[in-house]
Amino acid sequence: MPEAPTPHSIDQYRHDYEEGIGLRGFRSGCGFVTATWGLVCPRCGRRDLAEATLSGKGRIVAFTVQNVPGDEFLNDAPYAYVVVELDEGGRITGWIDGIRTESQLSEGQRVEWAPTYKPGVHFRPHEPSSSAPP
Ligand SMILES: [Zn+2]
Repeated sequence: MPEAPTPHSIDQYRHDYEEGIGLRGFRSGCGFVTATWGLVCPRCGRRDLAEATLSGKGRIVAFTVQNVPGDEFLNDAPYAYVVVELDEGGRITGWIDGIRTESQLSEGQRVEWAPTYKPGVHFRPHEPSSSAPP
């Protein structure tokens, strides 16, 4: 039985975003892009996944404020647990620190990947460049 190509292991995938090296995803031959580690295209089942580097920018499609965290986030609660649709396509779960109430975020809000020494895929609100000084 032929072995499916393995562009990188799940450990490398996690290592790269936790170390701030890069947020990687996969692009299938059908054009589908996913930020979720896998070996086959979740849409069509093809095995011709190629690595894709993702910008880490996208918008919030779902979120909740986490008040009772696991051990790794004890010192960060409350924070927001977010589902982000990335600009390249694909959705990824992550978190945003410093969020105490749901009114601080909104669906559709722009966010960007912000590597930190803490675990998980960390995002921060991303303002459009119009807020930058001229
Ligand atoms: Zn596909």
